[in-house]
Amino acid sequence: MTSIQDQIRETAAQLLSKGKADLVIGFSQGTRAMRTTPCFVTEADGAKQLVWNSYCSNNLAVYLPKCFALDPRLREQEPPPKVAIIAKGCDGRSAVELIKEQQVPRENLIIIAAPCEGMLDSDLAQQLVGQNEILSAEESNGTITVTDDTGKETRIERKDLLVEACRFCKHRAAPVHDIAIGKLGQTDGPLAPDERFEEFVKKSAAERWEQFCSELSKCILCNACRSACPNCYCKVCFANQTRPDWTGSGRKLSDVISFHLGRMFHQAGRCVDCGACVRACPMGIDLRTFTYKLVVDAKELFGHVAGLDLEQSPVLRTFNADDSDNFITEPE
Ligand code: SF4
Ligand code: SF4
Ligand code: SF4
Repeated sequence: MTSIQDQIRETAAQLLSKGKADLVIGFSQGTRAMRTTPCFVTEADGAKQLVWNSYCSNNLAVYLPKCFALDPRLREQEPPPKVAIIAKGCDGRSAVELIKEQQVPRENLIIIAAPCEGMLDSDLAQQLVGQNEILSAEESNGTITVTDDTGKETRIERKDLLVEACRFCKHRAAPVHDIAIGKLGQTDGPLAPDERFEEFVKKSAAERWEQFCSELSKCILCNACRSACPNCYCKVCFANQTRPDWTGSGRKLSDVISFHLGRMFHQAGRCVDCGACVRACPMGIDLRTFTYKLVVDAKELFGHVAGLDLEQSPVLRTFNADDSDNFITEPE
């Protein structure tokens, strides 16, 4: 049977050779073991670089707004390109949000859904292996056998290496797609809060605020979380739209907090819990607890789950007389 990776390569090559796509966005092998890197293929011959394995964790939808960053008024003279994206559940859901927010023309996007069983965390594998460099990793029957540069083999259960967001993901297949490769997983499922999150929501508002400030006090305002997030596509971020900037560029807590409050609230009803921001953070900050609170609130207060349906209005654009408003009138 043809492997998923071969099917992805064949599909990409066909789309490019038949002129159905100008660009295919996928993954190629990284320079180190257990790593991949985003890959932009424009010629059919280049499709053989594409890989599909357990290390394709980046959310590729982050590149879509840049592909279509043409002034809409110029589009008649210069039509936007036709772009195909290899999509896990999270890439696909982000693509849906970007289409709804007019950042991506649906007719110019080909979503190629690929199966995802949860991606693996190579940094975690390195921590378990120790200081020696990992040279290779083989996956078989739920076990990863990692070989380091001394030749030592370490066996790790797949479930113990899952990326944090993947451990709780209930949307492993792109819910909207044009081409499906392999057997796709679940497209929808109940939210699955984890213990750390449960601890957070049990706290009082004052304790949550303390946790927020304490965690974010590690932030160096490098903006890597913003760059990795498909939802942060503004040409000039709100934080930098004024002179002087809304937020300073140092580590003053008030600057850090105002940046993150603004960025996180902009994620309400839009965040797909892909974890790209968390993985990008060089300071190891637990951003997920806070963005996941918005995911849970959007679901519990408004029945809204981001990225599942092209017809669903953004949560902050709709109003229903029965909508909960006690988060405003009686905040806990
Ligand atoms: S968040 Fe879900 S869809 Fe995305 S890589 Fe993890 S398991 Fe796959
Ligand atoms: S805020 Fe983080 S988890 Fe949410 S969509 Fe953006 S990168 Fe993904
Ligand atoms: S990536 Fe981490 S350190 Fe950089 S701005 Fe975001 S939270 Fe702060």
